[in-house]
Amino acid sequence: MTGTGAKAERTTIPVAVDPWVLAYDGFDPEQEGLREALCALGNGVFATRGAAEETQAGSVHYPGTYLAGGYNRLESEVAGQTVVNEDLVNFPNWLPLQFAADADAWVTPESVEILSWRQELHLRNGLLIRTCRVRDDRNRITKVVSRRIVSMSSPHLAALEVCITPENWSGFLRVRSGLDGGVTNTNVARYRQLSNRHLQILSMGAVAPEGIWLLVQTSESRIQVGEAARTRVFFDAVRLDVERRIIEGTDRIAEEFRVEAAEGETVRVEKVVAFHSSRDRGTGEPGSAARRAICHAPGFNELFSKHRLAWQALWRRYDIEIGTRDTRHLLARDQLILRLHIFHMLQTVSFHTIGMDVGAPARGLHGEAYRGHIFWDELFILPFYNLRTPANARSLLLYRYYRLDAARQLAREAGFDGAMFPWQSSSDGREATQMLHLNPLSGRWHPDYSRLQRHVNAAIVYNFWQYYHASGDRAFLYHHGAEVVLEIARFWASIARWNDERLRYEIVGVMGPDEYHEKYPDADAGGLRNNAYTNVMAVWTLLRAFDVLDEIGQSRRAEIMAMLGIGESDFERWDHITRHMFVPFHDTNIISQFEGYEHLREFDWQAYRARYGHIERLDRILRAEGDSPDAYKVSKQADVNMLFYLLDREELRRIFERLGYPFDDDAIRRNISYYMDRTSHGSTLSKMVFASVVDEVDCDEACRLFFEALRSDIDDTQKGTTSEGIHLGAMAGTVAIVLRRFAGVRLGPQGVVFQPSLPGRLGALRFRVHWRGRWLHVDLTAGHLRLTADRDRPDPIPVIVRGQMFEAEPGRPLEVSLEAA
Ligand code: BGC
Repeated sequence: MTGTGAKAERTTIPVAVDPWVLAYDGFDPEQEGLREALCALGNGVFATRGAAEETQAGSVHYPGTYLAGGYNRLESEVAGQTVVNEDLVNFPNWLPLQFAADADAWVTPESVEILSWRQELHLRNGLLIRTCRVRDDRNRITKVVSRRIVSMSSPHLAALEVCITPENWSGFLRVRSGLDGGVTNTNVARYRQLSNRHLQILSMGAVAPEGIWLLVQTSESRIQVGEAARTRVFFDAVRLDVERRIIEGTDRIAEEFRVEAAEGETVRVEKVVAFHSSRDRGTGEPGSAARRAICHAPGFNELFSKHRLAWQALWRRYDIEIGTRDTRHLLARDQLILRLHIFHMLQTVSFHTIGMDVGAPARGLHGEAYRGHIFWDELFILPFYNLRTPANARSLLLYRYYRLDAARQLAREAGFDGAMFPWQSSSDGREATQMLHLNPLSGRWHPDYSRLQRHVNAAIVYNFWQYYHASGDRAFLYHHGAEVVLEIARFWASIARWNDERLRYEIVGVMGPDEYHEKYPDADAGGLRNNAYTNVMAVWTLLRAFDVLDEIGQSRRAEIMAMLGIGESDFERWDHITRHMFVPFHDTNIISQFEGYEHLREFDWQAYRARYGHIERLDRILRAEGDSPDAYKVSKQADVNMLFYLLDREELRRIFERLGYPFDDDAIRRNISYYMDRTSHGSTLSKMVFASVVDEVDCDEACRLFFEALRSDIDDTQKGTTSEGIHLGAMAGTVAIVLRRFAGVRLGPQGVVFQPSLPGRLGALRFRVHWRGRWLHVDLTAGHLRLTADRDRPDPIPVIVRGQMFEAEPGRPLEVSLEAA
């Protein structure tokens, strides 16, 4: 008897035998946080981490539940200052379902000897299963099998089923099922010194004839969440008429049952939970909505079969099957990871999210890192939806549109025109980036200048434009998109200042995507001059603004110009900027990441790799040494290379030509290599972006980076960050590489465009894309493309394969030889 959560066996990597099942064998306290994040279940409205039902938040377990858009602000005292942070709130834990033999203590993984333990996340059905056998200090062995869903068909319901079998004992089994409002936001160690209690308990009680409920409210945003739980006990198929005892605490409520259990016989406990909030549409007060919901909700099996149907429908649209020339094991693992990424995307932003006023949080609804905020990462996330369910992309864009006034206010406060969206956005579009950040290696607080990443504004325009291009949704551009694009164009035009000596426009006081460079080495203030990515994307935005004005037609153009106070003289200035923006260069044709970059010191990569091994987070290492990455030619992630990721060669060539800078394909290749050699990939976004651009210079390296990017979360390559939330941008970005790079799919007004280029390791791809209300089934191998349009309409879908026009007839495969195309 160990009594302290002994491990039956330990594995360091998930066992991937089935490309639809993420499975872990053995209880491993160190891996539990990672597994909880990767096994989280959600439906785009709320999500709950994959913590075991009998556990509480602590150093091993963290059963978090998050509502999409469920933010709250709290004040904290940090380094002698009052700081305000807005967090994605951890709402009451609905999981608690504990058992105990007779009068003994409740069983937890830490209180018994674990004989076996297996967690399985079934991606096809959105089902989490845990099977374990435990032995207590009186040698009683009990088997527990729990199944869990967060319903994808009824977005306010979740359900648990726990089967308990005493293997070598008989006696009374006590079961406790609860709702715990005593939770705080403590998932991220770095934030634990800050205020973290967001919830006030409003009321709780028993539901007649069965169940319990709890109503909470966030302290500042006053979001109410009502949860209700109905717990039933079965023996075989027979429901037992058990006596219930309600236990009310100050911040939690539970009900307890006593059941007679016999050796070898299974007691089945079912807990159906309703989760309603004051942000819901179509329901009333969340407490009573939740109470009513559990009175009418079906049992676990019926809920599960509808949930399974909803997932089937999703997989029909979203699955990507990969075939490889490698071993079967590799195929299964890569396939599994790709599906895991698709799965978590769909759990964070689903059909149910459409019309909710939410953006796509960088860390999913899976943990508390970055406080659930919305970043430029949407740039990598929106294509995922554009290609399959553009209504999701549209809904995410509306999140920005509704915060246009807040962005106007931010621009005004900073002395600019138009709209300046914040680097981090949460509830109301105010700047949500923290002012100070803690270096966990040194324990010191540093000023955080990351809010100077104004490039997020270009990303927003890019997203609106991509959506328009993919969907052809002119009405959306007309009513919403145009205003956002033009306001951001005004912002860029006003932040760009004419330099009389250079005879060019400049943008100063900003940061690029590479967060290792926040300021010049000896400067007191944050910000850099002329970040090349920002400057070029500002030009790109202004050019798109002209396109948008053309697209919306004369009368709307006149309306918007009058409304925003834009006149012809503004257009002259915009045009002038697109011809005279400054872009810094050094070493003949190397675009300098920012002005003065060339004066920074080269970094001794070899020495640091030898000393520290894992140097992705070089910023933390250098700061802990009393140094700073500001002084070196080191990048956290793609910055200049973002240009090659977002803009195709032709477009870039036109921009540089317009600006009067010579720039050719060879220069692109030189820049890619130059920055590849100077990037530590401290963000999971980095390898994914480099994997997309590096094939210009080195296909094998691009392929290697892709497979590494694929592993970011499943292997927690950043050592501990995934347990604080998945990396949604990297997940989406890897899926995008498969579709946009390997299959070369683009959606445009003329049809579905294919420019396939499968890397050596991938032999085949099969998936569907959505084009203007139609589905196209794609079957791709290295030498052949088969395209089949759905039969929903009689007309064919136009496709362009390597520049050649075809038509895919409904139900009749179009076969294209890629050698011939
Ligand atoms: C990256 C940013 C990203 C943010 C949220 C940071 O580590 O450097 O580019 O937006 O994470 O994912």
